[in-house]
This record gives sequence, C-alpha cells and structure tokens, in this order.
Amino acid sequence: MNNSIYEVINNDYCIGCGGCAYASNNFSIGFDLFGMYKASFKNNELTKETDLADKYCPFSDKTMNEDQISNIIFKDVENKDINIGRYIENFVGYVQEEPFRSKGSSGGYGKWILNELLQKDEVDYVVQIKQGSEIEKLFDYEIFKKGDDVLSGSRSAYYPVTLNGVLDFVLNNKGRYVITALPCFAKVLRNIALNDEIIGSRIKHIIGIVCGHLKSKAFAELMAWQMGVKPENLRIFEFRDKIKNLAAIQKGVYAIDKQGNKTQVVSSKTLYGGNWGHGLFKYKACDYCDDVFGETADVSVGDAWLNEYINDSGGNNVLVIRNQRIFDLTIEAVKQGRLNLIPISVDEIVLSQAGGLRNRREGLLVRLERKKAQRQWTPKKRYFPISKIEPERKRLYIRREKASLLSHKLFKKAKLIDDLHFFLKKMKNKTGKLDMPSLKYRIENKLYLAWQHYKKLIKKVLNG
Ligand SMILES: Cc1cc2nc3c(=O)[nH]c(=O)nc-3n(C[C@H](O)[C@H](O)[C@H](O)COP(=O)(O)OP(=O)(O)OC[C@H]3O[C@@H](n4cnc5c(N)ncnc54)[C@H](O)[C@@H]3O)c2cc1C
Repeated sequence: MNNSIYEVINNDYCIGCGGCAYASNNFSIGFDLFGMYKASFKNNELTKETDLADKYCPFSDKTMNEDQISNIIFKDVENKDINIGRYIENFVGYVQEEPFRSKGSSGGYGKWILNELLQKDEVDYVVQIKQGSEIEKLFDYEIFKKGDDVLSGSRSAYYPVTLNGVLDFVLNNKGRYVITALPCFAKVLRNIALNDEIIGSRIKHIIGIVCGHLKSKAFAELMAWQMGVKPENLRIFEFRDKIKNLAAIQKGVYAIDKQGNKTQVVSSKTLYGGNWGHGLFKYKACDYCDDVFGETADVSVGDAWLNEYINDSGGNNVLVIRNQRIFDLTIEAVKQGRLNLIPISVDEIVLSQAGGLRNRREGLLVRLERKKAQRQWTPKKRYFPISKIEPERKRLYIRREKASLLSHKLFKKAKLIDDLHFFLKKMKNKTGKLDMPSLKYRIENKLYLAWQHYKKLIKKVLNG
C-alpha cells in the first residue's frame, strides 16, 4: 500500500470531510458506529483517482500542509505568526447591526460576512451549516443563494458534518462560492482548489471557524439526555443560545424532542460534558491536528475568550483576516458603524485560544512521541519549537486522549442498555482524574514549595 490515505482510514485518523469521495469512487462517507462521519474504501488500489484522494485528505502525508498552502494563497501577506498563520490584521468585537449578533454564536461576524458577500454580489452561493430536524442528521451543510435568509444558518455546530455532496454541487453548478469551514475542512478545500481547476475557480472565499475539536453526534445526545430528551427522541439541538446576564463562556443549550417540546435553556457548564478540556466524543483526528485558527482560510472567526470579553453575555468574536477583499469590506463596515471591531495584538489573539493551542502544540508532541514509541503510524505534522514539557502535563495529555476515546464506547453502550447513569458514573470516574493532579504531582509540588520556603529562610539567616 503506497497511498497514505489508506493509513489514515485504517488507523482512524479520518475526519469525514469527503475530499476522498470527491476524488474517487473507491471511497464513500458514512456514519460509523459512534456517530462520526468516516470514509471507507472498497479496495486499496493505486489509481490516478486514489492518488488525488491522497493529495486532498487533510491527514494524509501526501497533502500540502497549512504553511505550504498559505505560502501560495497568501503569498502577498507578510505578517506571519507560528500560532495563527499569516494575517493582515486581527480584531476583536461584534456586529453592531442586528440581528447578526443575537443570532450568532458569539459576535455574529460569521453570518455577517457571508451575508455581506452575497449582498455585495461578490458571490452567488453561500455554503454554511443549517440546523435540521432529522434524527440522523441534526446539522448539515446547505447551499444558500440570493434571496435566501443567510441568518437561518446555524450557530456553532459541535456536530459531525461533511463536504461530501457539497463538492459535487460546486462542480455541477457554475458560480462563485463562499464556504464556512473548520481548519481541516479549509485545508481539504484549498488542496482540492489548487488541483482542480473548476473547484479552484469557483471557490472565492473560505470563512474559517476557529476550532478546539470536533465532536461526534453523541455530544448533542448526551447533553439532551441530561435535560430529559432521550437520544432517539432528539430532533433539534442548540449548542450556542445566549442567556442574558450569563457569561458568554456558559454557552446556553436546549433540546427539542420529536413531539416539539422544548427544554429550558441552560448553561452547558451545568451539564456533564460541557467542560471542553475533557474532550468527550472528540474525533481521534482532532488530537493529531496542529491548526487551531484555520490558517488557510481568508478570515478565521472565533470566540473572544479573553478576560475583558468573556463575561459579556452578548458574545464577541476574535478575527484573523488574511484576504485583502475581506479586510476592505470589514474596514468599510467598521467606518460605517455597522461593525464594532478594534484591532488587537497577536499575543491577545493567541491568549484567546491558549488552551486549544497548548493541546495542539505541547499535547500533540506528547501524543506523537507516544505513538512513535509504540511504532504506530501517525499523520505527518508541522514542527513547532517547544520547551520542556512537565511530566505531569505529559501524563495529563495521555489521560485526556484515553478518556476521549473511551467516551465513544461507553456512550454507545449506555444507549444500548438505555442507562444514562451507566455512562455518567463510568466517565466521571475517568474525567475526575483529569481535573485532579496525580498524587505524585501533589507530593512533588509540596516538596518543591517546601524547598523554596527553606531556601528563602536559609538566605535570610545567612544575610543576617
Ligand atoms: C466544532 C467547533 C469547534 C470550535 N472550537 C472553538 C474554539 O476552540 N475556540 C473558539 O474561539 N471558537 C471555536 N469555535 C467557533 C465558535 O464556536 C463560533 O462558531 C465562532 O466564534 C463564530 O461565531 P459567530 O458569532 O461569528 O457565529 P455565526 O455568526 O453564528 O456564524 C457561524 C457560522 O459558522 C457556520 N458553522 C457552524 N458550525 C460549523 C461547522 N461545524 N463547520 C462549518 N461551519 C460551521 C455556521 O453555519 C455559520 O455560518 C468552534 C466551532 C465549532 C463548530
């Protein structure tokens, strides 16, 4: 086997984006047993088409990485940072003209820029996520054209989605497109666009969604189940409603069952699974990704997880703009008072995603080294200089990865035996250990603090 995409699929590093299925009939995309889109293949043949699939797959070794893509797409953009990629300017704030902010996840810039591009006749089609009400698919990509309500697009979908089908639509329908995409989806879109003339000429803009990790369908199901809606009855789930007077970070959630009954809106932090650090139901691929910001997108849109903004229940965005046209449209709207944005430094942008970056730099290195020691295949990653990683943190990254892999299996079993408490009990046992430093660490820490204390005392005595 020469194609690295077969390694990706066989070793479960697939994110289900659909790039391979667009390239070759040998691949198809469907839900796996745990509620994640995954590719499967008929045979491991090596053909022109499977070679192309290998060039598109975001986790294949044959694909161009984020730096190589950016060096082509954003060659004129001089500013560059190891954590956020290339950038013209970075901003924080929100959309002033309503109802973008109130209907958005945070500041509302995501759907605002899509709408702006459509209204200004810069594109013919907007491709974004829409909330559905099918038991099999609560969220899916949908194509919007002029006259459609772009604001009916979803807020953040912490839910599996795929470009399978979207790419065929783009191929078969002439026009200019803007597409919202998680970092790995932006990467596959760029790699296709750079190889496929038709797709390349039609995709005008990619709106990147900053990403900590993607989750399986189980995340929505677990949250809804805790609110009294069982997985088989769940029809609609909202991950990012806003609760007045509550900090944006609380992320309001609600569920609607098949009879149309809506639960109360509650903070996701009051439900088990709402702690993103636990990484429940994470795709394995996300632990082997090194792009938090979506470095190949024209603009990356994220939450302003910064002290000054985190308590604002209205929500605020951080933006990293790489495309000149998007920059011009944004600046024009700021001047007109339609956007309330101020420039911020790279350091602040980085700080807003400190946890995600730590996991995809330090954590990634630990996971890669571990797999290497086990002689297991992993996707090739970019190199990032990293200073010493404390043994306690190493252990934490490994425990986190194990816990997230276990969560898929335990939830599947909980559904089978119809017992939510089975999952909660077993899983809380695991994640409890993630929250609490190990005994070894606590002892090491105590000894270290005691030593510092005595060092100071000795110094004092010696100095008289
Ligand atoms: C899986 C996931 C993980 C995320 N992790 C982080 C994180 O770690 N840190 C952070 O700051 N922000 C993260 N975000 C982004 C954040 O949740 C908001 O989506 C972002 O700040 C945009 O806010 P907005 O107010 O501009 O949204 P809106 O104006 O509501 O626009 C959001 C746009 O994104 C589209 N969209 C929603 N979900 C997806 C998806 N899965 N794939 C493609 N398009 C989608 C919507 O259709 C809509 O067009 C994540 C989002 C997702 C989906």
